[in-house]
Amino acid sequence: MSDNIRVRFAPSPTGPLHIGGVRTALYNYLFAKKNGGTFVLRIEDTDQTRFVPGATEYILESLKWCGIEPEEGPHKPGEYGPYVQSERKEIYQEHIQQLIELGHAYYAFDTPEDLEKKRQEEKEKGNENWQYDSSTRNQMYNSLTISKVETQSLLNQNTPYTIRVKIEPEQIVNFHDLIRGLISIQTNVLDDKVLFKSDGLPTYHFANIVDDHLMQISHVIRGEEWLPSTALHQLLYRYFGWEAPKFAHLPLILKPDGKGKLSKRDGDKMGFPVFPLNWTNSEGELYPGYRENGYLPEAFVNMLAFLGWNPGTEEEILSLEKLADTFSLERVNKSGARFDPDKTKWFQQQYFKQQSNASILQSIENQIPKHNYTIQQLEEICGLFKERVEFAKDIVPAAKYFFEAPQSYDDKTVQKKWKENSATLLNELSTKFQSLHDFSAQELEHAFHGFVSEKEIGLGALMPVLRLSLTGEGSGPQIFEIASILGKEEVLERIATAVAKLG
Ligand code: GLU
Repeated sequence: MSDNIRVRFAPSPTGPLHIGGVRTALYNYLFAKKNGGTFVLRIEDTDQTRFVPGATEYILESLKWCGIEPEEGPHKPGEYGPYVQSERKEIYQEHIQQLIELGHAYYAFDTPEDLEKKRQEEKEKGNENWQYDSSTRNQMYNSLTISKVETQSLLNQNTPYTIRVKIEPEQIVNFHDLIRGLISIQTNVLDDKVLFKSDGLPTYHFANIVDDHLMQISHVIRGEEWLPSTALHQLLYRYFGWEAPKFAHLPLILKPDGKGKLSKRDGDKMGFPVFPLNWTNSEGELYPGYRENGYLPEAFVNMLAFLGWNPGTEEEILSLEKLADTFSLERVNKSGARFDPDKTKWFQQQYFKQQSNASILQSIENQIPKHNYTIQQLEEICGLFKERVEFAKDIVPAAKYFFEAPQSYDDKTVQKKWKENSATLLNELSTKFQSLHDFSAQELEHAFHGFVSEKEIGLGALMPVLRLSLTGEGSGPQIFEIASILGKEEVLERIATAVAKLG
């Protein structure tokens, strides 16, 4: 593809970014990377009534955490700024005038009450779906039904108005969606949408196309919910005489049961986050985030990439770089992508176990209770558990017996494994361990196997009770590794305690 691929992520700062939004940003990022293009962030804040303080910062921080930072945006202005729509008012003013002059937009002086009354009257006549369009605009109070002079005088008197698009009836809008193929819409079904509100700000539709044009966006990759608006957008490009960008509408992210769009409430109900980072709303209500739940950003991003796309191979663990190498819009699905909380955890685990022991230790340093271990031993402890847990925060609870001798012994294992001769065997094993000069896992294992064959007993007669004595548990990482880290003195003491309590 050519060098001037430019894509944008254009969120509205109306609250925390849902994972669906993060996926849209990710696909834009991957598409830009794959094609040597530029990934732009534009903040669409023209709906002042829905503006939420802190939302823009949340969006930026989320993208940063995911490692998909835009190359241009409010944080990093390029040559197409400003990148926040509320700072582009003059640009929209200028363009709406142009559209009026071209005869594709008009002033509408109907008040919200007038419109409501009209809708009500139509409803009473059985017309539920009344809309302001080519068939009804001549009954309304606008610059097409009154004279130029009257229009000018209303404007001079600062009469509140909106500006509407004048949709030409009886036309077909054809466009090719890169994911969905050819889409055809008859203009008679479209209404004369408001392009400029009475507060002097443009609506989403108008600001969006003006900006995509001026920012030289080549591909608009966005959620499926915007597909119905695309016909209007195409017409606006046509009315301005501009070339429209290419469009790709991404499938919805569905609830785990596939019934409907994934919502915040599903996350609350089923105990998984639907936001990248924690967010606290103005009522003090917490929306949990993946980051604070202990997910690695690489795992989160890999999972999101597969929600609606796949590389066409069996490979599932792909770094961001690898994803960018393999990504293509042709492989994005048309149908909704079902969110799978278990698969999400699986991705996390794959990445978690690939982490170095040192970096896991670093991330849990402040959770580690008082101890006498060396850094190397603590790292070994992390290594013993990283395949057994999914999150760094679960290491210390799982490894609790390294920091405190068992307070109790797993009942089931005691009942099944603790036999009459267990105490005697353990005492003898303890003597053998005591004589070891090298308390390494290999030496311990060697001594243990020697002892078991000397006694002509099965491993199963001694291994579980040794584990029980040292950890209080019925299962866990390799027991000789555990014993070696605990050290001779502690091992002998724990065996003695177990014998005294259970013997
Ligand atoms: N501001 C719109 C949103 O919040 C952007 C839609 C688009 O990408 O065109 O989703």
